[in-house]
Amino acid sequence: MSKNNKQKDISLLQAWQKKIQDANINNIFCHCHTCEYEWVDSSWEGICPNCNSSNIERISCWQFPDD
Ligand SMILES: [Zn+2]
Repeated sequence: MSKNNKQKDISLLQAWQKKIQDANINNIFCHCHTCEYEWVDSSWEGICPNCNSSNIERISCWQFPDD
C-alpha cells in the first residue's frame, strides 16, 4: 500500500458521502416536537407545516432499520 492509495481511498469515501447526501435530499423524515406532527420533507431547513414551530427533529430515511 502506498500513500497514493490511501489518498484515493479518502477521495472515494468523500464521493460516496456526497452521493448519500444527494439521496437524502428528498427523504428526510421530520417530527415536530411542539405538536407531534410528522412528515417527509426535501429540505433540512424549514418549519412545521402544522404549527409553524422550528423545534423539529429530522432523520434521513435511509437510517431507518429494515425490520
Ligand atoms: Zn408542529
